[in-house]
Amino acid sequence: MNVRRAVKNPIQGVRTFYVESESEPGTEHMVVEVRRDGRTTYYCNCDDYFCRRLPFIHTNLFSNCRHSTRVIEALQ
Ligand SMILES: [Zn+2]
Repeated sequence: MNVRRAVKNPIQGVRTFYVESESEPGTEHMVVEVRRDGRTTYYCNCDDYFCRRLPFIHTNLFSNCRHSTRVIEALQ
């Protein structure tokens, strides 16, 4: 899974990345990194994130989808 960074990010503390989809070659998922109030949160536009993970955001039950996990790995 390749990770590509958006050219421009107009909002302070926000970075946008694009990650190749494994299940649908040729399509990309958008992962938005938001750094605010000392906390970094990743948002992805895939179905897995929206349906299964987003409801648990900012709780102990939350975990990132594979795309946001891939972005985190690429940033290390
Ligand atoms: Zn995702």
